[in-house]
Amino acid sequence: MSCRICGATLLAGPDRKLGRCPTCPSDMDEELHGRLREWRLRVAGAQKVPAYVVFTDATLTAMAERKPGRPEELIAIAGIGPRKLGLYGESVLALVGGATVDEICPQKTFEIES
Ligand SMILES: [Zn+2]
Repeated sequence: MSCRICGATLLAGPDRKLGRCPTCPSDMDEELHGRLREWRLRVAGAQKVPAYVVFTDATLTAMAERKPGRPEELIAIAGIGPRKLGLYGESVLALVGGATVDEICPQKTFEIES
């Protein structure tokens, strides 16, 4: 795999996940990243699991940078196996395609009870 910014060969795991060298500028879609984070929060809240169980920060960043348009592109991002593709693939692809979090996941984030 090579860096999609400069074309250098990527050897380290985290760099490969991101698809670029750590020193190359991020081309992350900030708006998409925000929606992915909001969606992850709601999914994690509904399942009562920590957010990183749904997807790690690195995986969300990789999604917002690589903007997968098809399941094959999504599964090429490290951290997304067949199980998570089955659970969340459709939602992530819809978000990348421009859907709002409310369209995907109408459920509001739970209030934290004190
Ligand atoms: Zn690079």
